Amino acid sequence: MQDCLFCKIIAGEIPAYKVYEDKDVLAFLDITPANPGHTLVVPKMHYKNLLELPSELSNKLIGVVKNISPAIIKGVGSTAFNVRQNNGQLAGQSVNHFHWHVIPRFESDGYELWPGKEYPEGGAEEALKKIKEYL
Ligand code: AMP
Ligand code: ZN
Repeated sequence: MQDCLFCKIIAGEIPAYKVYEDKDVLAFLDITPANPGHTLVVPKMHYKNLLELPSELSNKLIGVVKNISPAIIKGVGSTAFNVRQNNGQLAGQSVNHFHWHVIPRFESDGYELWPGKEYPEGGAEEALKKIKEYL
């Protein structure tokens, strides 16, 4: 894909700190990491998001995430990590080429998870009913 940043990294047109590579997958350090070792795991083929990604490739990618995460966290002296994936601008996706984030965690590192909200009375039942209409 012509104007895709990650396609350019995969093609070797933009440099990256490569953590892992095979014929289908590339993993490289995020250039503005949440923490040291923050790694992006991407398919070499261009797919915009999780919904476009074929299931077989999705399985392969999460397998790579699982296999390389222990080395990533040990390598930076961490014992915990978040695996995160954003779909769509509203969800924080800034590069429209599917990618997993592997983020090593440290004590008091300032990385915030979501603030939990409460459902209003009947809200969970209503949400569930509407979701099930699409399943
Ligand atoms: P997202 O916001 O989920 O789309 O994540 C895109 C990530 O790509 C961000 O965390 C950026 O820091 C990262 N990024 C942008 N440009 C580069 C680059 N040239 N090399 C490595 N990571 C990059
Ligand atoms: Zn791309």
